[in-house]
Amino acid sequence: MKNCLKILSVLLALALVAPAGAVEPDTWVLRGTKIYPAPDQPPIADGVVVIRGNRILAAGDKASVKIPAGARESKCSGGFVTAGFQNSHVHFVGAAWDDAGKKPAADLARELVAMLTRYGYASVFDIASDRDNTLALRARIERGELAGPRILTVGLPLFPLNGLPIYLDHLPREFLNRLPQPATVAAAVAVVGDNLAAGADGTKLFIITPQARGLQRMSADIARAAADETHRRGKLVFAHPTDIDGVAASIAAGVDILAHTTHGMETPWPDALLKRTISQGVSVIPTLQLMGYELKKENVPPAVTQRLVAASVEHARSFAAAGGQILFGTDVGYMSDFDPTEEYRLLSKAGLSAMQILASLTTTPATRWKESDRCGRIVAKMEADLVVLDADPAADPANFARVACTIRSGKVIYAAAGRE
Ligand SMILES: [Zn+2]
Repeated sequence: MKNCLKILSVLLALALVAPAGAVEPDTWVLRGTKIYPAPDQPPIADGVVVIRGNRILAAGDKASVKIPAGARESKCSGGFVTAGFQNSHVHFVGAAWDDAGKKPAADLARELVAMLTRYGYASVFDIASDRDNTLALRARIERGELAGPRILTVGLPLFPLNGLPIYLDHLPREFLNRLPQPATVAAAVAVVGDNLAAGADGTKLFIITPQARGLQRMSADIARAAADETHRRGKLVFAHPTDIDGVAASIAAGVDILAHTTHGMETPWPDALLKRTISQGVSVIPTLQLMGYELKKENVPPAVTQRLVAASVEHARSFAAAGGQILFGTDVGYMSDFDPTEEYRLLSKAGLSAMQILASLTTTPATRWKESDRCGRIVAKMEADLVVLDADPAADPANFARVACTIRSGKVIYAAAGRE
């Protein structure tokens, strides 16, 4: 009798914790012809992912996953499922994003789809923009006013003194005047502090910038101090290197990520520099498609373009082959060609396998930003950030661009026609 009472009291206590009729978070099922749980795991044929709320509840082949009663089937089912992608080099710059705090949500939502979510990006890193405008956009997405990716940003980037690059000349003067060009170490540290205090997630340094005549360089002590201050606050530093001297200066400053390879440079990186970049754990975002895009704007003859693109591909190839860490990024927002198909083709040309490209989109950013416990893989308890592709990326890496659905934290933020 005493035992029975004890059991009864335990049951009552449980009932108090989980009252009958409590609303369960939305539970739904995504089925895949093939699921790629992670780049280092074999694909699962006829796979199932069960999503509850913002998390993955279970994932595996359909025989082994128990579907909870009442779970809803998704129109995104049918296709090739991967973890959500991160584009680690984008910009919210230009008329499409102006006045993001007040612009109609539908206008911004349309732009987010066109530039980002229709290509599978559940997460993006903005590496230079009008900081407060980007933060306003992020806040509206997080409040649920419109669907969009997770946005990380470096806010306002740092330039060399008197060193705004010529390729930003098309931007409004009012904006250019606000771009920091710190003259002293103290001023650089203050810019970093101001960005991070406002809500930025990292720092971007333009180490060397092309001018109408020649190059302007950020002084080594300023670059070092900005990087140190960013690290002290637990964040990472991106650098725009421009050329091989810029790579060396970035490495010396202690940056974490090179935002481009050295476009337009036909000479390979010196072996010692390549080794040092890799041994210091510096990641590279090759942005290979950007090279052809820039040269096309300048009406460069196709034969020259071919040679220069091949040189950029070769930089990426030698870096990856030597064990360097590649992060995926395209520079969209600066580049108006949003479709990343060519980037996937060129990464493949640089010797990256489909699974290495998937890593650059998923597990590598998760590791780099210390989020491997939360995202990057399709495993139970992870954030339900997922991409459904219409065709198998293992058959052709260009298929990473053929996105049917993008899911962020359990919500479909993009669905192709017929999948809504
Ligand atoms: Zn950029």
